Amino acid sequence: MERINPATGETIETYDEHDEGQVEERLSRAESTFETFRDWSVAERETKLAGVATLLRERMTEYAELMTREMGKPIAQAEAEVEKCAWVCDHYAEHAGRYLQDEQHPSPPGSTVKTVHEPLGPVLAIMPWNFPFWQVFRFAAPYLVAGNVGLLKHASNVPECALAMEDVFRDAGFPDGAFQTLLISSDRVDAVLSDPRVKAATLTGSGPAGRAVAGTAGEHLKKTVLELGGSDPYVVLEDADVEAAATTAAWARNLNGGQSCIAAKRFVVHDAVYEAFIDRFVAEVESFTVGDPMDRDTDVGPQARQDLMEGVHEQVTGSIDAGATVLTGGEPLDRDGAYYPPTVLVDVPQGCPVDAEEVFGPVAAVYRVHDEETAIEKANDTEFGLGASIWTDDLERGERVASRIDAGCTYINELVKSDPRVPFGGVKESGYGRELSEAGIKEFVNRKTVWRQ
Ligand code: NDP
Repeated sequence: MERINPATGETIETYDEHDEGQVEERLSRAESTFETFRDWSVAERETKLAGVATLLRERMTEYAELMTREMGKPIAQAEAEVEKCAWVCDHYAEHAGRYLQDEQHPSPPGSTVKTVHEPLGPVLAIMPWNFPFWQVFRFAAPYLVAGNVGLLKHASNVPECALAMEDVFRDAGFPDGAFQTLLISSDRVDAVLSDPRVKAATLTGSGPAGRAVAGTAGEHLKKTVLELGGSDPYVVLEDADVEAAATTAAWARNLNGGQSCIAAKRFVVHDAVYEAFIDRFVAEVESFTVGDPMDRDTDVGPQARQDLMEGVHEQVTGSIDAGATVLTGGEPLDRDGAYYPPTVLVDVPQGCPVDAEEVFGPVAAVYRVHDEETAIEKANDTEFGLGASIWTDDLERGERVASRIDAGCTYINELVKSDPRVPFGGVKESGYGRELSEAGIKEFVNRKTVWRQ
């Protein structure tokens, strides 16, 4: 496995994958750790999780720099990511006991019936590089505090982040086998997932990766949670605050170099405010500083890998060939590193790459629509269903429009964002299951019925 700094194209370090014996050792440790870890009280696990939050904050600079070096995230955004990981630990350290408390049910006379929540065992997490810490903590905090143990197969381009997270759980007092990293390539995931000691799997990543993992899990009847891609619509209606909508839109598309499943990708704008929106939106994205991600003033760093940046550019050129017009950006920057500028496309034909596919980079497709009904139709004209943002001065109208959009989360007058307190996940090709909040912690527990007569 190679760590390549996408800001320079230089290889920082190479890692050997774990061999069969090392994987076996970790699986066996996961199984034996689970046998004792499941008996810890939730309160004990909450205390350890609070310790993880403290360590994350103490080590913020170290971990932020690690992410920036491995995948090119601007340093200020990397620091914010570490803080968010500490927040999700704080959240479950405070609320896990309540989320997992027994549920009492109406019972036949002479009996009492309740549901208790027991952990399942080792959970395999296959995670992506775009938020190398956050995606992992989003699963690890709830699943570990519920008494499961974690096995992380992280993306191949962020091995040092994967190892750092193993350290932080151990250093905070979790047993050695509670959270372990497997340095393996994706073609070895099947073997691990098929192992009877692994009880469930969660994956965040592309559709093909999700299908492969769900297929194997299905053969073995193991539960999965899948958080896949998105092509989120950002609907601006004629009664919206256009200034606010356009300013937020620029960030909604370009945070993390545009490499986010919940980034706004298709901007559906009412004719009456289209010109005003475009003027402000283009001015905002052109004001972003694109450059060295270690520099605090940088808004948009390099794309995480050269091949991914080339893929984004192919989507842009394919769309231009099909008839789209570039208002800004549209060409890789002429410098070392995988730099792609914020790009805005209009006159986007239906079915061209930026219209039909997920674009995992700083490229906005803008559509002009003449009424609310067409806006809803365009918003739903995608195979994905992760999030949606709707802008209007009329909140009732916003909710009405939101109710007709096929997505796992809808935000009115706000960009789509994840929050430990709020359920997160998609429908359609964006996957299934929910992460975060009470819904997330209950995905991988045995909701066991206890009937007392
Ligand atoms: P992948 O989906 O290929 O990678 C995500 C994770 O899945 C990595 O750990 C990867 O391992 C693993 N993986 C890949 N294929 C398989 C498989 N067949 N079986 C088991 N595990 C697998 O994403 P890429 O990095 O290749 O990015 C490609 C596209 O995916 C992006 O352009 C974007 O559209 C989408 N994506 C979506 C994300 C999201 O947040 N929803 C995050 C990342 C990507 P390895 O790195 O070793 O291949």
